[in-house]
Amino acid sequence: MAVIPVSHPLVTHKLGMLRNIETNSKDFRELITELTTFLTYEATKDWELESAEVPGWEGKPVPVRKMAGTDPSIVPVFRAGIGMQEGFMQVIPTAKISYIGYYRDETTLKPKLYYSKLAANISQRRVYVLDPMLATGGTTSAVCTILKKEGCKDIKVLCILAAPEGISKMAEEHPDVDIMPAVIDSHLNENGYIVPGLGDAGDRLFGTK
Ligand code: URA
Repeated sequence: MAVIPVSHPLVTHKLGMLRNIETNSKDFRELITELTTFLTYEATKDWELESAEVPGWEGKPVPVRKMAGTDPSIVPVFRAGIGMQEGFMQVIPTAKISYIGYYRDETTLKPKLYYSKLAANISQRRVYVLDPMLATGGTTSAVCTILKKEGCKDIKVLCILAAPEGISKMAEEHPDVDIMPAVIDSHLNENGYIVPGLGDAGDRLFGTK
């Protein structure tokens, strides 16, 4: 498994703005969108191109290169992953959006599936799982398991922050899935929050606290 941190001065700068607890929900959402566009550029740089022709301004066909193959699918992990959807779709508007919903069973503390609606022919698509906070990695790993059961072979996880604990879990359970975080933080606290982290990304995105 490759862990490829997306390092760039703009990414680092915007991460600092996200960490500021005084950043309001509107700005927080916009920053997550902007950061996701950077992650998307990086995550798609291995995409194959093919030759094509377009009608040019001189009235003659012009040879161009375009992205080859089937449109990808994104899988935003509920709830905070939805905050990354817009950024990805700005870069690849033809991507298909698949949803897989889990909740945490309060007795077993394990992720429980409650919703799944995947893009048609998902096994033939590149799949980008969007989860801003790769914390324990439990839900993201469960999402990857379902996608593999559906036949997906090319899966990448895009996250804003990753904890070493989440990376280890993914390395153990999905060594074939690459992870592209904007930054790897120090650790998880006793409540499963990433430190230094951002707090509850879902609450900050959707203004629920
Ligand atoms: N989910 C969050 O929103 N924040 C964390 O720190 C960990 C998981």
